[in-house]
Amino acid sequence: MDGAELSRSSSLVVAMDGPSGTGKSSVSRRLATRLDARYLDTGAMYRVATLRVLRGDVDTADAAAVATAVKDLPLTIGTDPSHEVIELDGEDVSGEIRGNTVTRAVSAVSAVPEVREQLVALQREIALAAGRIVVEGRDIGTVVLPDADAKIYLTASAEARAWRRNQQNIAEGRGDDYEAVLADVQRRDNLDSTRAVSPLRPAPDAVLVDTSELTRDQVIDELYRVVAQQVSAGGRQ
Ligand code: C5P
Repeated sequence: MDGAELSRSSSLVVAMDGPSGTGKSSVSRRLATRLDARYLDTGAMYRVATLRVLRGDVDTADAAAVATAVKDLPLTIGTDPSHEVIELDGEDVSGEIRGNTVTRAVSAVSAVPEVREQLVALQREIALAAGRIVVEGRDIGTVVLPDADAKIYLTASAEARAWRRNQQNIAEGRGDDYEAVLADVQRRDNLDSTRAVSPLRPAPDAVLVDTSELTRDQVIDELYRVVAQQVSAGGRQ
């Protein structure tokens, strides 16, 4: 299948999963642009839920209280890959949800089944309405959109991921502490892959792409190639 064919189909759902620090968000957004598709960052949705919990002074270890705090979450999330919109109750929270406070608490909040149920339903709704979309997260190919046209699992060594995140921290003025970042990457990997509901693991039919040794441009080229291959193998037009 060539690029023109890939960009003609009215529906094209790409599931992008993998742990943090693989460059997943930035490459998913760029892949969506290249495919002329929408883009959904499901991690941002769990982060907004977490912000709501923290603002309500709810103990993140109290699953019932977390479920209550997140019920009917007034969340707005955009799907334009070149323009991020993330709001909680009409307030732009795109910066705040990436801060350390939310990052530290998000694994606990996203492990609560009621939180996942609510957000997964919303993710399916958004994907269905978009038609052509790259959906990025941890359980997209396994749970949210098991019938996706293409499924990719991005990986990279914990060291490569920690190195990238640390470089990002330095660039954004958040300090330089590779060892602490590596410990946090390993802690989050462990929490995300051992939780009872939707643990982080590749779908059996996902294609693994290891980004440790690739530049961003090489990753995009490889993803595009893999999507074209999977779509054509699936017999879609
Ligand atoms: O991708 P990001 O690092 O923003 O995701 C933040 C957290 O949200 C993850 O560490 C994980 O706990 C949770 N998450 C999830 N399921 C998804 C996306 C994110 O549990 N589909």
